[in-house]
Amino acid sequence: MPATSMEELVSLCKRRGFIFQGSEIYGGLQGFYDYGPLGVELKNNIKAAWWRSNVYERDDMEGLDASIIMHRQVLRHSGHEATFSDPMIDNRKNNKRYRLDHLVKDQKADVISKVAEAIGQSAENFPAVVAALNANPAQASQALKEAGVRDPFSGEVGDWTEPKPFNMMFKTTIGPVADDESYGYLRPETAQGIFTNFKNVVDSTSRRLPFGIAQIGKAFRNEITPRNFIFRVRELEQMEIEFFCTPGTDEEWHEHWLEKRLSWWEAQGVPRSKIEILDVPKEDLAHYSKRTYDLMYDYPTLGHEEIEGIANRSDYDLGSHTKNQSELGLVASVEENLDSIAKLTIPHPETNKPVVPFVIEPSAGVDRAMLAVLSEAFTKETLENGNERIVLKLKPHLAPIKVAVIPLARNKAELVDLARSIKSDLQKLGLGRILLEDSGNIGKAYRRHDEVGTPYCVTVDFDTVGKGEDASLTDTVTVRDRDTLAQERVKISELTAYLQAKLK
Ligand code: ATP
Repeated sequence: MPATSMEELVSLCKRRGFIFQGSEIYGGLQGFYDYGPLGVELKNNIKAAWWRSNVYERDDMEGLDASIIMHRQVLRHSGHEATFSDPMIDNRKNNKRYRLDHLVKDQKADVISKVAEAIGQSAENFPAVVAALNANPAQASQALKEAGVRDPFSGEVGDWTEPKPFNMMFKTTIGPVADDESYGYLRPETAQGIFTNFKNVVDSTSRRLPFGIAQIGKAFRNEITPRNFIFRVRELEQMEIEFFCTPGTDEEWHEHWLEKRLSWWEAQGVPRSKIEILDVPKEDLAHYSKRTYDLMYDYPTLGHEEIEGIANRSDYDLGSHTKNQSELGLVASVEENLDSIAKLTIPHPETNKPVVPFVIEPSAGVDRAMLAVLSEAFTKETLENGNERIVLKLKPHLAPIKVAVIPLARNKAELVDLARSIKSDLQKLGLGRILLEDSGNIGKAYRRHDEVGTPYCVTVDFDTVGKGEDASLTDTVTVRDRDTLAQERVKISELTAYLQAKLK
């Protein structure tokens, strides 16, 4: 059974070294997290699984790793400077700031209904309520006060200001220049690095439509209220694809990617039955989107929240950068002479005329993926002896540690040396991390590896080295299966082949 509460996951992540609060020794920094010894392995494994499936196993994809800090012109002409904002509202009583939609969503149902009514909307259509509040700031402030919207921090009804947009991009100065113009942005999505490199990739690979570019990397959003552990953070990681296709085929490709992405989640242990597909209402679409499917995973405690967005970005980005390039005099005007534009177009597969392709963008968050994968794998079981165990039933390809090799006694050099040599042989198979676990207490070691999802434990005991009671067990080890708890005696000479078959 998956985790039933976020608390359970947070506690496991801290206890076992998956995730720590960022800058913790100085009191922590809100919205920033550090991934510990096991977290970094799990994260890397998720990213590798995504890359394998979306780049290596397809014939129409290329990879990219663009820089994080971008020219301000990129984010101006992508529309982010003007529109990448969330509505912020202050409570005059205690100067606390909130994201307007989160503040209203977290109120009791009757309060939400009153807000909706005051703004002439139905509470059933929450995006429309938020859109109306944003469009009428003075009315919004009044509506919140009248409806008795409470401050989540103080619990009292707030004295609410008019909401105003808060741009979420992090600005940064570049180089030791004193003028106001020398700044760039930390990218708020990895996508723009793909758009700005579109032509470089086409020219260096001879790709023709349809094809895609994949990228995994950090993105930064100065969220008004980061919350819910790693669900909403200010430094996040995204796994994004921009899939370029001929205008008119975009809707078909949109459906293709929806299907592909759902089956990828399934292969990571996140079943379709736990994901709702939200066809995002028009009033809630991002500025670039023609249509977006949000995959809403049923997170413990939070309920259905977005784990991935699959957007049809139309020709918005490449079109907008092309137009800007022409305004800057770098290429001919788009409207005047499409044929001569050298920048962000590609030959139409049928007419060979330059065309600005349409783009389908599956964009998943690595941090939200971690939460979902952990949540699905989290299992509490009652054993035959009545004891309870927590076990992370992670798919083996995601497990942070693939095999723990455990000498039965830590002070017996013969056992420890043999365990070390077995570990070293297994490590060479390239399966991922193999751990020498010489903490000494076998029971504790099994419990720990259950909790961190290690699929197999290999134990080297006195029988293994011919000093036990059963001579027939010499040169064999015990292999313990995390899920079934079955223990099997395997010859050391056959161990690598045995585990390779199990873990493939
Ligand atoms: P939300 O509505 O939850 O703020 P969004 O619609 O702004 O998300 P997108 O811009 O579509 O998100 O980003 C694509 C993906 O990046 C999301 O599906 C999510 O997995 C991830 N993501 C976005 N913002 C954050 C964040 N602040 N923290 C963690 N992951 C995020």
